[in-house]
Amino acid sequence: MKILICGAGIGGLYAGNILTQKGHEVVIIEKSGGNLERGFALIIWSNGFRMLEKIGKVDAVRAVGTPAPRSHTEDANGKTLVDIDFSDVGIEIRQIVARRDIRNILIKDLDIQWNTTIKKLYTKGDATNVIFNNGREEYFDLIVAADGIHSRLRSSMIPSIRSRSMGWHGWWFWTDPLVDYSDCIFSIDSDDKSGLVFPATDSTKACAYFIVRDASRTESGNSPDSVRKQFGGMGEAASRIMSHLHDQREIFLHKIETVIAPEWYRDSIVLLGDAAHAASPVSGIGASLAMEDGYVLAEELDSTNPLPAALKQYQKRRVLRAAAAQVEKTTREMRDFYKDFLDSPI
Ligand SMILES: Cc1cc2nc3c(=O)[nH]c(=O)nc-3n(C[C@H](O)[C@H](O)[C@H](O)COP(=O)(O)OP(=O)(O)OC[C@H]3O[C@@H](n4cnc5c(N)ncnc54)[C@H](O)[C@@H]3O)c2cc1C
Repeated sequence: MKILICGAGIGGLYAGNILTQKGHEVVIIEKSGGNLERGFALIIWSNGFRMLEKIGKVDAVRAVGTPAPRSHTEDANGKTLVDIDFSDVGIEIRQIVARRDIRNILIKDLDIQWNTTIKKLYTKGDATNVIFNNGREEYFDLIVAADGIHSRLRSSMIPSIRSRSMGWHGWWFWTDPLVDYSDCIFSIDSDDKSGLVFPATDSTKACAYFIVRDASRTESGNSPDSVRKQFGGMGEAASRIMSHLHDQREIFLHKIETVIAPEWYRDSIVLLGDAAHAASPVSGIGASLAMEDGYVLAEELDSTNPLPAALKQYQKRRVLRAAAAQVEKTTREMRDFYKDFLDSPI
């Protein structure tokens, strides 16, 4: 089958690997240039590692990741709310990796067409004709929309499915690890705010992520001072994390949105990853889920079913699992959720 994958994020790249390995002719386009930014750090759970094993890239990811076998949550006064040793509760968290590092590993062996987008597409018989922004024209049997939360392909396919604001703002930045919690996913929880810091890139750097749950009551600036002001009241650990903030260009503010797609395919276009089911980043599982999507899609395309039936089956296998990951949970509820979810069959 000749397949176009639109978007070289974690989902599109994983799908590119598995579909190529299964013998499909795959073209991947990406709107940005090939110079990857480091991006934030990603927790890759055991389900994500199982997917990486399937494409033979697990060792490479392990080599660039940092393990975090514990999770510690406290309130703004420094009182411990939850302290979890993942292995004690049967949760296998595998590693934390910088987004750029895992993308670089997934890109190896693939040919990506950078700075490329779809200008126009139309269906002709069983195939879809795609005209790219560089004027080139090509036919494909299937188009995978892996173009993220604001997927343009999704909008062209089913305009009614849109990303929805959660009314939350999130700021992420790289910082120095908290020495006493350097092997740990460390979080601070208060009624309307939370903060998270976890080690990445061989424990020499940590990635911090702070959230305000009612964005209408806060400033949305991303200067070090405005971030310190917003989260300064979250206790001594938060102040220590903030003390490394100096450069506004290294603080990234985003408005947190989600996507719930009731339909995952139409004709020969199919949604994958955040384009179908973006969850709040707090769930920390979107990348692993996007890889699972690619694996299940490849399995269904391998079946003897005609394309529409294969896509229907793909949607059926993915939709409830993605929805379960999207439900907001407290730290305690998350522990139970991960325990049940990560190792269940997909
Ligand atoms: C701050 C933050 C922290 C997170 N932490 C975690 C975590 O710890 N663990 C975890 O599992 N998940 C985490 N996530 C979620 C995770 O990043 C996403 O779920 C995952 O990256 C989704 O992958 P994707 O390939 O579907 O989309 P994306 O990674 O968004 O990739 C989409 C790609 O498509 C490209 N593109 C967009 N439009 C077009 C177009 N028109 N044409 C061509 N290309 C296009 C984009 O440039 C991009 O490269 C976090 C998210 C955020 C924001």
